[in-house]
Amino acid sequence: MAMKGVPENVFMTTLDAAANWCRSNSLWPMPFATACCGIELMATASSRFDLARFGAEVMRFSPRQCDLMIVAGRVVMKMMPVLQRIWLQMPEPKWCISMGACASTGGVFDTYAVVQGVDRFIPVDLYVPGCPPRPEQLIAGIMALQQKVRKTGTVYGTEFAHRTTPTGPTPFDADELVRIREANDRLLVLN
Ligand code: SF4
Repeated sequence: MAMKGVPENVFMTTLDAAANWCRSNSLWPMPFATACCGIELMATASSRFDLARFGAEVMRFSPRQCDLMIVAGRVVMKMMPVLQRIWLQMPEPKWCISMGACASTGGVFDTYAVVQGVDRFIPVDLYVPGCPPRPEQLIAGIMALQQKVRKTGTVYGTEFAHRTTPTGPTPFDADELVRIREANDRLLVLN
């Protein structure tokens, strides 16, 4: 609606809306692809699906420049410290998509070695179902996330206040290794 005294090429908005419009249209994914879902993730950047149409095709393995973690595939317990470290290295504001049944729930791998949902360790904003989800599903998920960023985002990131931040992997305890060795030695002597 034209306002009296305001030229037609002038529009007014809020700082939050302007910032979120920019953020949502320039998502920079950090791919964490560990299994078959990763192949579908790669396909989204191909010419057939062309994720560039939504401004989110710049997948680089440089966490300090990324703001969208996409976990694609099952994550084993050994990989979790790596995933957490990468997540912590990404600057705020940042979002996370859990792609596929394995990343979201462990999928068919109901074993002690496989993480039964990455949201137990890092905050997830959006889940893409499927085994594997097709590239179109991931693109639909990214578009839904863009909507979420536009609707709920704030310049100062107050929408993340409820998030619990993982503290990251605990440092390796070298003394523990010594204690285990000593205990084993004692057992050998006793036997
Ligand atoms: S959800 Fe299915 S396709 Fe994706 S990593 Fe698990 S087994 Fe593979």
